[in-house]
Amino acid sequence: MPDNASLWARREQAVARGVATAAPFFVERAENAELWDAEGKRYIDFAGGIAVLNTGHRHPRVIAALERQLQCFTHTAFQVAGYESYVRLAERLNRIAPISGPVKSVFFSTGAEALENAVKIARAATGRSALICFSGAFHGRTLLTMAMTGKVVPYKAGFGPLPAEVYHVPFPISLHGVSVADSIIAIQRLFKADIEPRRVAAIVIEPVQGEGGFYPAPPELMVELRALCDQHGILLIADEVQTGFARTGKWFGMHHHSVEPDLLACAKSLAAGLPLSAVIGRAPILDAPPPGGLGGTYGGNPLAIAAAHAVLDVVENEQLISRANTLGARLRDRLEAVRARVPLIAEVRGPGGMVAIELMHGKNPDPEATRAIQLRALERGLLLLTCGTYGNVIRFLFPLTIQDEIFDEALAIFEASLPS
Ligand code: PMP
Repeated sequence: MPDNASLWARREQAVARGVATAAPFFVERAENAELWDAEGKRYIDFAGGIAVLNTGHRHPRVIAALERQLQCFTHTAFQVAGYESYVRLAERLNRIAPISGPVKSVFFSTGAEALENAVKIARAATGRSALICFSGAFHGRTLLTMAMTGKVVPYKAGFGPLPAEVYHVPFPISLHGVSVADSIIAIQRLFKADIEPRRVAAIVIEPVQGEGGFYPAPPELMVELRALCDQHGILLIADEVQTGFARTGKWFGMHHHSVEPDLLACAKSLAAGLPLSAVIGRAPILDAPPPGGLGGTYGGNPLAIAAAHAVLDVVENEQLISRANTLGARLRDRLEAVRARVPLIAEVRGPGGMVAIELMHGKNPDPEATRAIQLRALERGLLLLTCGTYGNVIRFLFPLTIQDEIFDEALAIFEASLPS
């Protein structure tokens, strides 16, 4: 059997270096919260394929749904010939979405594709073109979503020119001295200096910034954004690609807020690793593009749709929303206790199971210490991801289906990986 080092050497020869890999090993098999590498070493997976595996690896219900679908058909292209499971998934998402009144959905394959299409829909519905996004946001790597992403290196540098009329304002982060008022003032300045509000199609926001560092949007920010949108006829788009499907302790991150988005983009944990994304939104807005204006060969692939139905069943039947809250609270308590003796941990935060710690040396972000902890945990068999504009945040993306013993084992490994 090939070892990790020889596989890595082959990868370096054959695969573009632009697609970076966090872990130095190659995966052989995986089960719920555990995976095993090419050399048989076991890891506890707190990365979940970047927030995709809220229901864990190979959930039996997902596997069974895929096997059933494999026996029927694997592809027709919904634009050529439809299938009931697509329509039924739209009906289910329309019911759980944090949007009142008539709601419709449309499916794509990736998170970036969902964001691109949310923007197309917003432009068709408003007849406007400009977008307001937030610094630190991550919306994808395609040309438009790269421009919407609020981080230059490594996402935008060298890839210009960027699409026009994408503006950024600071995301409020109290730890870094940016308030909600600062963000709102920045939008008002934008309206004075750069773009008239009636040219703005949408404001796009993650209810909890994901790649940016697991910063929850303050409730008063969302209220102010909704008011600005209503005042100027701008649409509010929630990017729930990372926050969706029970991770934050509610179905969607916007369920934590008192105001509603007009459109919502989701992907990742929707289909447990099968490529599926969706735009959900107010029916008249979703219906703005004419027939043929939306779609894609693979969007709403039947295997991915089958997996998504199984995911929604598992979230409901195994009460994963309450499990996210229980596990998240346990993790936060434990991390707060550790923080008392490790001053490097500046903050423990995040709603439900969307938990992270931020590491600072005094007032400065400490990416080196963050990376060192990640590597020590990896050596001990715990796969963790970092995030944050400065790379100084560790996020804990455990499956919500994780067994208690394995969760506790992972926390013990994490504590042992911290500097004493
Ligand atoms: N939006 C958010 C909030 C994300 O976290 C991501 C992926 N990390 C994306 C969009 C892009 O999704 P994808 O990689 O599936 O295109």
